[in-house]
Amino acid sequence: MDFNSRDLDPDPMSSDLDQSRHLATAIPGPRSVELMKRKQAAVSAGVATTLPVFAARAAGGIVEDVDGNRLIDLGSGIAVTTVGSSAPRVVEAVSEQVAAFTHTCFMVTPYEGYIAVAERLAELTPGDHEKRTALFNTGSEAVENAVKIARVATGRDAIVVFDHAYHGRTNLTMAMTAKNMPYKKGFGPFAGEVYRAPMSYPFHDAAEIDGKLAAERAIAMIEAQVGADQVAALVIEPIQGEGGFIVPAPGFLAALAEWCQTNGALFVADEVQSGFGRTGTWFAVEHEGVVPDLLVSAKGIAGGLPLAAVTGRAEIMDSVHPGGLGGTYGGNPLACAAALAVIETIESDGLLERARQIEDILVGRLRELQQSDPRIGDVRGRGAMVAAEFVDPVTGKPDGALARAVAAHAHRCGVIALTCGTWGNVIRFLPPLSISDELLDEAFTIIAQGLAQGLAGTK
Ligand SMILES: *Cc1c(COP(=O)(O)O)cnc(C)c1O
Repeated sequence: MDFNSRDLDPDPMSSDLDQSRHLATAIPGPRSVELMKRKQAAVSAGVATTLPVFAARAAGGIVEDVDGNRLIDLGSGIAVTTVGSSAPRVVEAVSEQVAAFTHTCFMVTPYEGYIAVAERLAELTPGDHEKRTALFNTGSEAVENAVKIARVATGRDAIVVFDHAYHGRTNLTMAMTAKNMPYKKGFGPFAGEVYRAPMSYPFHDAAEIDGKLAAERAIAMIEAQVGADQVAALVIEPIQGEGGFIVPAPGFLAALAEWCQTNGALFVADEVQSGFGRTGTWFAVEHEGVVPDLLVSAKGIAGGLPLAAVTGRAEIMDSVHPGGLGGTYGGNPLACAAALAVIETIESDGLLERARQIEDILVGRLRELQQSDPRIGDVRGRGAMVAAEFVDPVTGKPDGALARAVAAHAHRCGVIALTCGTWGNVIRFLPPLSISDELLDEAFTIIAQGLAQGLAGTK
């Protein structure tokens, strides 16, 4: 399929958003400045924003702000609008559903959409065993429920997570998240029975630490400090998101999954960020041939409507007593309608293949840049989940200031670029799969300019 010339948007409802970058004012423009004043007066300072511009419309690879600036989207609202914002099928499905009924609560009078999403997840997630799904509202909530399910199913308490992990901001998921600032600082005490094991981080690990050795290192820690027979579940992001788009060494995930199987612990894949086509497969564990016992999805699942899921082996999911799982809004009918439309869009528009094309473009250009710029320590990622990690070329130390300078340059030029990583020294590329090659190319050129200009201001 030709992704540049095709009409991405046959629906008149959202097809009029020009797919080009355009700066009508300085960033931020006057209307955004005005709204930011209102935000400061009305919204908690704890809720920060990456860019100071307010959105008016978004589609394809563009976010248009209230001043008429059109920004190239390299963030997808943090890996959520994978099929594009206001994607035509999603708009249609949600419009139909909102007119039919908005909510009954699945636990009171259920509806078909919830079941249809569970059926599709059983087909799309790895493994051909019998599966069940439970739906929730947010990634954090779904991770919490995966832990609840794992504890009931195994009769054990301990949860093992990894260095650099991000699993959310609720009390239990804060305990599971690694980074103190801004996610945990001052918010404790945190939930107990959460243990942290060393991650495989090829760029920072010694060269001889391959996936197998990294897994042995983690397992040795778990066996000595937690006890193999105490572990309910290992919860791991197959590619870490907020922690820095860390792709573990080949074999690491498979060795951990095998250890889980041998020791009666569950292998839980947190695919909240890496799932739903983002990495060029439906789920990132597929690249490693791993079949998780439980898989958590959210973010990209419903094109921006709040939905999250735990999908797993039938006997594990069914071990919970009736009424033990649920919530007022979990699997809301609008969100379910959106999820079914997202799945159809990924399938019909060949978006898994598109994610792999985006990987080729981004990784290719980043590697090219890396040849002549030793500050780019590492280029990594899969599909449309790609990152560059910046270091001081002399000391090898993380260079967060450079990542911030590059992102700030991008923002001034009308490119939504995000940073991540334990040391804040990673620029991440998370474009919607509906972005054109031209916009991707233009955004990359601006990032490269930012890098060239960041030369003086860093260290
Ligand atoms: C974003 C994220 C979460 C939390 O999801 P929310 O919807 O923000 O609660 C959990 N795990 C991973 C890997 C994430 O990227």
